[in-house]
Amino acid sequence: MSDTPSIQFVKGVGPRLAEKFAARGIRTPHDALFFFPKGYEDRRRIIPLRSVRGGMTVPVRGQVLAVQGSGRGWWGRRLLEVVISDGTGRLSAKWFHYRPSLAERFRVGETVFLCGAVRLFQFRLEMHHPEILAVAEEFDPVNMGRIVPVYPAVEGIPPRTLRKIQWEVVRKYAAAEKEFFPGWILDAARVPPVHESLETLHFPPPESDAEALLSFSSPPQQRLIFGELFYIQWALAMRRSGMMKEAAEPLPWDREIVEEIKRRLPFRLTDAQRRVLNEILKDMSLPHPMHRLLQGDVGSGKTIVAWVASMVAWRKGSQTALMAPTEILAEQHFSRFSSLCRDLPLRIVLLTSSLSAKEKERVREEIREGRADVVIGTHAIIQEGVEFKKMALGIIDEQHRFGVLQRAALRGKGRVSPHLLVMTATPIPRTLAMTLYGDLDVSVIDEMPPGRIPVETKVVTEDRRKEARERLHREIATGGRAYIILPLVEESEKLSLRDAKRTFEQVRKEYPGTGVGLLHGRMKAEEKETVMRRFQEGEIRILVSTTVVEVGVDVPEATVMMVEHAERFGLSQLHQLRGRVGRKNRPSVCLLMVGREQGEEAAARLSVMEKTNDGFRIAEEDLKIRGPGEFAGVRQSGIPDLVFSDIVRDARILTKSREIANLLLVRDPDLTHPEHAELKSWLQSRQVATSLVTSG
Ligand code: ADP
Ligand code: MG
Repeated sequence: MSDTPSIQFVKGVGPRLAEKFAARGIRTPHDALFFFPKGYEDRRRIIPLRSVRGGMTVPVRGQVLAVQGSGRGWWGRRLLEVVISDGTGRLSAKWFHYRPSLAERFRVGETVFLCGAVRLFQFRLEMHHPEILAVAEEFDPVNMGRIVPVYPAVEGIPPRTLRKIQWEVVRKYAAAEKEFFPGWILDAARVPPVHESLETLHFPPPESDAEALLSFSSPPQQRLIFGELFYIQWALAMRRSGMMKEAAEPLPWDREIVEEIKRRLPFRLTDAQRRVLNEILKDMSLPHPMHRLLQGDVGSGKTIVAWVASMVAWRKGSQTALMAPTEILAEQHFSRFSSLCRDLPLRIVLLTSSLSAKEKERVREEIREGRADVVIGTHAIIQEGVEFKKMALGIIDEQHRFGVLQRAALRGKGRVSPHLLVMTATPIPRTLAMTLYGDLDVSVIDEMPPGRIPVETKVVTEDRRKEARERLHREIATGGRAYIILPLVEESEKLSLRDAKRTFEQVRKEYPGTGVGLLHGRMKAEEKETVMRRFQEGEIRILVSTTVVEVGVDVPEATVMMVEHAERFGLSQLHQLRGRVGRKNRPSVCLLMVGREQGEEAAARLSVMEKTNDGFRIAEEDLKIRGPGEFAGVRQSGIPDLVFSDIVRDARILTKSREIANLLLVRDPDLTHPEHAELKSWLQSRQVATSLVTSG
């Protein structure tokens, strides 16, 4: 709304504060209207000091008993202490490094209103740096006697002043805000129009449901949350419908290839594997590109599904590209596919960045000329200079390790739009999947191959290390194989390497005569390959490794997963690591070692791992603890940061926004209906600000 005046002309602002606002991106009253409270404080009732407890944030009133501007507190800081009493109790307000003018505001015997977080110090109530609501009974209708908004900090503007300015802005400008959602959408979402929302949001009327406000479930808040999520869902729906209109080469299966595949399967497929294969093969048989996410917990058997899809593509004379995030995993897929395809006239090649220039060129040529039928590799596949003759199926393993752009790059390697299958073992909470992968259809393998025994998991604190070690001994003595994983030290790769090497030496001393191997990211591809092969074949029995084995690695004989400094890992990551064991019908154990200093808190967080083997539950828990930003794949996804919404808290409205976005796309895909004119310009203005729609 460029026709609104500068914020400078709002009462109480002026050029100096206008600059402070500008630094926060707030230039007009309109911007200020959309600068929302991050929370609220219920200041409707003054709380008698008798009822005040530590941990509360409350307004209190009292008579000043003493004002003590001591030069320095006993710990050497300047300290102002004001003791108040309301006849039911006493409280002492403290300011550190205070300005002298502050002390002058208080006079013994006068009444003051304060608001702040209460703490208990030596059985006495204290507030540090409380907000001074009023001195000597002057009443402030914006800052007290109501539910007050708490805004995110704007540097250089004290909270009280900010609130007063917002009060002016809302009174003058809120009513003029135009609603861009048409009535039918507001009705369907069951949210109020924006101007009503704005007033209530900034300064909730006294009869508001304070709890609803504090938990962000009040209707005006839902309106904003809806708006934010709706945009994302609409953009994803657009992307998806755009892709569905593209033409792709149909790759229908036929009886002969199905027989051939069946003959080669090393085991009976689970029902879940069969079901997802049906979904995938059906997509592939259509003249529009498949866009499917295959989700399945660690060890649920996604690789074989990918292999079947590639067999069908080969049968139809097309190339398949399979991209994995690590070389170890690419190698593993390569050898697995090779053995599944033994004696077939089908050429599989491996393309990773550690090939020599000459080898690379040779492989590229095979790809270009169409002699390579299945190309398995790392990022190297999507690099420049790799040209496929006729790639019609692209598969990405461990999709969450890649970003949207890489997904797009792989698509770009196809002759026409290729069918795309992306697989992930990180179980993504449903709500997060909806935002991350809202443009994909989803298939889920929700069943493990038969005979698996759940991995026994133990969180082990430092004082019980001996027991853990004995357990490891026993496993090794009876023929098991073990991983010992060391975390990546973020500050320095060198340090983690030193850690890994030291542990490796220790373990080697401890187990003379037992093969011990070391694996880390700095090793050359051939070295890694050799170590992995020796571990697979049982020559190495204990593998000390950094997290390079986190995803995908499959050595079914391994039965012990020992993770050092487990507290440094996210739960989902630990679940991935745990998934490296328990892959056969031999009981396996996962030992999560917790460092001495971290102790109990970490142990409590990790105890979820002991309780459940369900990757989805673990992911939900992880999402609650770490928030979506920390979740694998979110940062690379191109999804704009969420300001109002929290996809855990707002799951219901997220689902709703997705339904309505899809409905809108059906009713008026190009937004030509006059009723959608405002919405169209809003969506377009947001589109400019994010890369969501264009980057798919
Ligand atoms: P992920 O889904 O984690 O990629 P993998 O594809 O690596 O899992 O499979 C895990 C292990 O389970 C492999 O050793 C694989 O051979 C085995 N497997 C997969 N499907 C079945 C099945 N239907 N029956 C028995 N074993 C299976
Ligand atoms: Mg896998």
